[in-house]
Amino acid sequence: MMPGQIAKFGSTAAQLVFGGIAALRSLRGDTTKKRRVEEVPRQDETDLREAVKQWREVFEHNPVMYFMVDPAGTVVNVNTFGAEQLGYTAAELIGQSVLGVFFEEDHDFVRRCVAVCLETVEQSHTWEIRKIRKDGSILWVRENAKAMLRGDGAPIVLVACENITERKEAENALRQSEAYLAQAQELSHTGSFGWKAATGEITWSKETYRIFECDEGTKPAIPFMLQRIHPEDRLAVQRTTGRAVRERQDYDHEYRLVMPDGSVKHVRAVARAIRDARGGMEFVGSVTDITATKEAERRFRDSEQRFRDYAETASDWFWETGPDHRVTQISEHSDSAGMAPSGVVGLTRWDIAPDADLEPEKWRQHRAALDAHVPFRDLVYRSRDRNGHAIYVRTSGKPFFDTNGEFLGYRGVCTDVTAAIRADQAEEALRKAQAELAHVTRVTTLGELTASIAHEINQPLAAVIANADACISWLGRDPPDLTAARRSVQWVIEDGNRAGDVIRRVRALARKSDIEMVPLDINSVVREAMALVQRELATHAVSVRLELSSALHRISGDRIQLQQVLINLVMNGIEAMESVTDKPRELAIRADEADEDGARHLLLTVTDCGVGFSGETAQRMFTPFFTTKSGGLGMGLSICRSIVEAHGGRLSAFADQGGGATFQIILPLCEEAVS
Ligand code: ADP
Repeated sequence: MMPGQIAKFGSTAAQLVFGGIAALRSLRGDTTKKRRVEEVPRQDETDLREAVKQWREVFEHNPVMYFMVDPAGTVVNVNTFGAEQLGYTAAELIGQSVLGVFFEEDHDFVRRCVAVCLETVEQSHTWEIRKIRKDGSILWVRENAKAMLRGDGAPIVLVACENITERKEAENALRQSEAYLAQAQELSHTGSFGWKAATGEITWSKETYRIFECDEGTKPAIPFMLQRIHPEDRLAVQRTTGRAVRERQDYDHEYRLVMPDGSVKHVRAVARAIRDARGGMEFVGSVTDITATKEAERRFRDSEQRFRDYAETASDWFWETGPDHRVTQISEHSDSAGMAPSGVVGLTRWDIAPDADLEPEKWRQHRAALDAHVPFRDLVYRSRDRNGHAIYVRTSGKPFFDTNGEFLGYRGVCTDVTAAIRADQAEEALRKAQAELAHVTRVTTLGELTASIAHEINQPLAAVIANADACISWLGRDPPDLTAARRSVQWVIEDGNRAGDVIRRVRALARKSDIEMVPLDINSVVREAMALVQRELATHAVSVRLELSSALHRISGDRIQLQQVLINLVMNGIEAMESVTDKPRELAIRADEADEDGARHLLLTVTDCGVGFSGETAQRMFTPFFTTKSGGLGMGLSICRSIVEAHGGRLSAFADQGGGATFQIILPLCEEAVS
């Protein structure tokens, strides 16, 4: 019984004790009690004292706690046992409020109990309540109480308490373990059940009700359960449980439930066959909602299958090696012509690769990485496909370990990069061929420029001779004019250098050298190239306008190749203006910067006012061997374009409206300039 509940009781010992105490009180000679003393049947006073002594013994040492409380709640009396149970002496409690041994939150209840007793004098009430011992520990008691009228008519409440702490603790422990169990069942989605096979009586735990989505007020029954079970599983469930009953055996099965909203649940029921007290069959078991597990299993299977599908259809293949770096597994391809090498299980990568001896450094580094158990990326090596054809393979891998950190091997992926490597090789070959061709055409151009070049050299040479002659004359004077002679010699030196420069440039153009990409000042590239075509321009009466912006960023390029492009464009321009007689032949070369594709670029244009070109020519002028000239080779523009593109740029041609053509080169600026 919990605090808050008061019940009437028919007391035995307590009433006897209360009676004795009343007698005792009358013996104390309380004047107000005289009337009652007279009421005591005449007896021998000794007998009475003896009786009182016995009652006192009972009162003091009876293992029941007795309290007398006045209407104000003050303890009027308490037996030794009662005080000791609370850790006090009787003297410590008498005269104190009885509330002192109760919990604050129970005070109202205690007051109510006392009030009820006082309202119903001579009637017994009982309740259960906690008390606080002097040391702070809890004492659970069952109290029997009753109000009585004293001789003077004043009421007093007599209370007899019995210690029920053990029972309460057991009850609480049981309640707690029941709560734990319920919680554990809820958390594990596992309910429990009992099933008496003979009577068909079923008991369910709270969680089982929840799993079956059944109202806890309803008594579980077989028809209801069958109705919940998925129609396709009903027969199997009936068979399993039927056999278990017949053979008195445990059972363990999985089936599906269809919920009122149509959703499907997977459950697993496990039951143990036991005999009840009367020898009847009873099954005690658990039912677990395994929907989430089933779903996870399904997903896992799906994802495993998905991974397998990827692995089988990918052009890449997956491998695993053991702690000794020997292949333990390699993914299968559904395609029998798949590229994964066969027969490599048990071999190391360097056993497979024919280039292992040819590139010792690459393999030394790779093996060092493997021995250090670190991941590696993009190792490219030669191998053979399952048909024995040489292939190039690129592979990356990462080590894997067991839960103790023990190294187990590597897992990784391989890609056949033969096509890419062949393409790289082809591109390299093409680049070489283009460089060769560029060189040949350069030499050819130089051949065409012989007269021009000869003039460039002859001119300073003639000046050298003239100045040397003059110097001799100055020296032959009397006295020799040394100042004039020195000036002549200085001119000799300058002209000599000029001739030397021309020869150096011609040799550079004629030389077959590797492409060298360096930061270049485009203005100086233009000026140097123009120096070589001066004479050509002059003989064709072409004037050149250089509009070079002074604040240009540098570009990254090969000086000789870019000069070749410029010379080519200038020569084409000169040729295009050959037939122009009605206006000055003018060639403009402009260098500037502009935004292209969101980034700053160099813009170099060569514009002539020649014949221009038709739409049809425009389409084809950059293709090799396309020419409209009788002695033309048709290689110039195609080489120019490949040179510009090798510089990451673009070369395009525009026919100008009023006749003439513009060739535009767009080149990226050096990284340093952009940032
Ligand atoms: P080639 O000069 O030997 O013909 P190119 O490849 O340099 O070879 O030029 C191909 C063709 O492009 C020329 O034959 C000509 O028709 C056209 N072309 C080139 N430059 C010009 C230009 N500045 N004006 C008009 N047409 C040009």
